[in-house]
Amino acid sequence: MPLQQRHTSREFSAGGIVYKKKDSEVKWLVVQHSLHKRWIFPKGLIGDNVDGETKEQTALREVEEEGGIKARIALDKPFTTTYFYIFKGTRIFKTVYFYLMEYVSGDIKDHDFEVSEAKWLTEEEVLETLSFPADKKMFLEAKEFVKEKV
Ligand code: ATP
Repeated sequence: MPLQQRHTSREFSAGGIVYKKKDSEVKWLVVQHSLHKRWIFPKGLIGDNVDGETKEQTALREVEEEGGIKARIALDKPFTTTYFYIFKGTRIFKTVYFYLMEYVSGDIKDHDFEVSEAKWLTEEEVLETLSFPADKKMFLEAKEFVKEKV
C-alpha cells in the first residue's frame, strides 16, 4: 500500500536528557535501544502500564528504568521531537517530550533489558553517538540551559 494511503496512529512518549556535573565537567546520559540498537535518550510510552501517569512522571520513571538512575527535572518545559515510523503495516506519528534533568543518585549499570548499554558522555561524544539528527538538534538546545548553571 502506498505510504500516503496508510492509516496513521499517534503515539506519545516522554523521557529525559540527563546531565551530571562533576567539578567543571558535565556528562550526559545516552542509551542504546536493545531492539533497534540506535543511540538515544531514555524514553517510553506515556502511561504504559500506569494509568493516569503524567508526562513528567513517565519521563522520570523511564530514566530510572532505562538509565538505572534517579534524576530531578531541571526545566519545566520539555523539548519535543516528532517522527514517523511503520509498525506492522501501520504508520505511526510519534511525539516525544524530553525533560532536561539533573542526576541525583544511582548507577547506570542498573539499567533494565530495554537498553543494551547506558553511557555517561561528554558533549562532543553525545553528538558523535546519538543516532538521529533531530535528537542532536534537541541536545544542542538543551545543553545551553546547563552551561549557564555550571
Ligand atoms: P518507546 O521507547 O517510546 O516506548 P519504542 O521502543 O517502541 O518506543 P522507538 O524508539 O520510538 O520505539 O522506535 C520506533 C522506530 O522509530 C524505530 O524504527 C526507530 O529506529 C525509530 N526512531 C526512534 N527514534 C527516532 C528519532 N528520534 N527519529 C526518527 N526515528 C526514530
